Amino acid sequence: MTIPSIDPAAAGAPPRIERCRACAHAWLTPRGFCPRCGADDASTEDITGVGRVEAVTVVHRAAQPSAVGPAPYTIALVAAEAAPGLRFMALAPGPVAVGDRVRVTRHGDRGAPYLVAREAAFRDGTLEQ
Ligand SMILES: [Zn+2]
Repeated sequence: MTIPSIDPAAAGAPPRIERCRACAHAWLTPRGFCPRCGADDASTEDITGVGRVEAVTVVHRAAQPSAVGPAPYTIALVAAEAAPGLRFMALAPGPVAVGDRVRVTRHGDRGAPYLVAREAAFRDGTLEQ
């Protein structure tokens, strides 16, 4: 896995996805065709980034130098509410647990495969700004 550089200008921006106009399938990494149906007609949209943590991994030894800083760091798999079936691999700046509702923001350019989950964005169903 190649870890992209972080673009400070994109920090905090909403996740940007592509959505197939033929079948409505959504995906994160830009490509020239729909991975589900093969159509080459996709729209680009920003989504809220709100989702629920499905898995958490703490990386203690990185396989290669990391753009996110020295290990250890925490990676969360977050299921996006705005695009069912779409999941983000997100760097968590603080503790997160499976089941937490978080907001994911973009911290790289359009091709960056990971985003950053803001810690404890929701408590008791209320968004904390
Ligand atoms: Zn499609």
